[in-house]
Amino acid sequence: MNLEKLTCHEIHDLLKSREITSTEVTSAVISRIESQEPDVHAYITTTFDEALEQARIVDKEIGRGKELSPLTGIPIAIKDNMCTKGIKTTCGSKMLHNFIPPYDAFVIQRLKEAGAIIVGKTNMDEFAMGSSTETSYFGPTKNPCNLEYVPGGTSGGSAAAVAAHEAIMALGSDTGGSIRQPASFCGVVGLKPTYGRVSRFGLIAHASSFDQIGPITKDVTDAALLMKVISGYDPADSTSVKVDVPDYLSYLTGDMKGIKIGIPDEYFAQGIDSNVKSTVLEAINLITKIGAECENISMPHTEYAIPCYYILVASEASSNLARYDGVQYGYRDTSVQNLVEMYSKIRTDGFGSEVKRRIMLGTYALSSGYYDAYYLQAQKMRTLIKQDFDKAFEKYDALITPVSPFPAFKIGEKTNDPLQMYLADIYTVTINLAGLPAISIPCGFSKNGLPIGLQIICKPFDEQMIFKIAFAVEKHLDRAKK
Ligand code: GLN
Repeated sequence: MNLEKLTCHEIHDLLKSREITSTEVTSAVISRIESQEPDVHAYITTTFDEALEQARIVDKEIGRGKELSPLTGIPIAIKDNMCTKGIKTTCGSKMLHNFIPPYDAFVIQRLKEAGAIIVGKTNMDEFAMGSSTETSYFGPTKNPCNLEYVPGGTSGGSAAAVAAHEAIMALGSDTGGSIRQPASFCGVVGLKPTYGRVSRFGLIAHASSFDQIGPITKDVTDAALLMKVISGYDPADSTSVKVDVPDYLSYLTGDMKGIKIGIPDEYFAQGIDSNVKSTVLEAINLITKIGAECENISMPHTEYAIPCYYILVASEASSNLARYDGVQYGYRDTSVQNLVEMYSKIRTDGFGSEVKRRIMLGTYALSSGYYDAYYLQAQKMRTLIKQDFDKAFEKYDALITPVSPFPAFKIGEKTNDPLQMYLADIYTVTINLAGLPAISIPCGFSKNGLPIGLQIICKPFDEQMIFKIAFAVEKHLDRAKK
């Protein structure tokens, strides 16, 4: 049996019946990482010794009859922007290439309590800025489905690790699509939770009013299991919301009867790849056949989403990244003569060009004289985009769209054209602007065999409806393939 190829829930059953041990699963994942990494490069740091030690402890506990949580003994990969106590956390940047956090992020504390085994920290675009995992200081990750293509970004390392069976499951973060787009490019499941659903304590900030941590998994059931562990109120994050966390698993019934779904026209307009369009429309057809009611709708402010998103995200990033001054942590240069020279040299050498571009753009948009023309206008547009969704959800339980206008692109294809790169997020940034939950699930392949994702968007804190629909679609798509 290739243990590394199983899902979390399959492994859980085998651990429970004592047919396998966590040490066996962890060793299988480690061997897989060793064989795949020269090609894929999904990880920045691996933690094999700690993982095996942890697995041995878990096995002993199981032997003593301790009850297993669904994640006990499961090897998991963590995007390298979540703080892990004693383990290097680089955010894909030279600026933090040697940063070892003294504490665990909230989600890491939760995973440890649940008995999960951390096997390593995954590669990402620097400070989570990008759409292809090519802006990492540590070099690009490759798409395991075809090594000439990008895995998407910025959680490209996490998505590639799960797709290449170098982890059973992973955590990513999503500011404008960074969980969903790489999940769709690599053919795995990725969920961006409602803003406030998962604590951001210990997540290195990109754009604080957008960022959310979420699961990247092999199937919908595993995403529901992982969400249950990481969701919930955390007093250490002032934007975390105190609402009950439902039993997501109980929504995985396969039933779609009576569910009303809106299909926004703007997400199928000019610029979409014909393969993506036809594959997503076919999936929608199937969804209608299994009992949901689908109707076309209009979301009139969608066309302003990209400029609005990039003004606001760059503004927040320019403020968040001001803390990297070479004094408190991370990259340092001792050859400088005075403080101004030190700031200038460290920020010039420590950040890559995409990060610098955004700091400049954001500083400009926030500066007096331009604030009203850019930042304020973008904030107003954010409200209008959110109102489009509010209106749609008066009538519909969910909206369905493609995740990305195109499947994975070739490595290097868009690196010299930032605007082309920004367009990769055209169908995902609206969801972050409105703070909504959305999932990407695989729904087919392009002509050259690259995965295509389907996006399901629901009301705030209605992740359970997402899981209900996603599970039904996954089940019936599987059947349709057989
Ligand atoms: N590609 C988007 C950006 O560069 C999304 C990033 C993200 O979700 N972290 O901002």
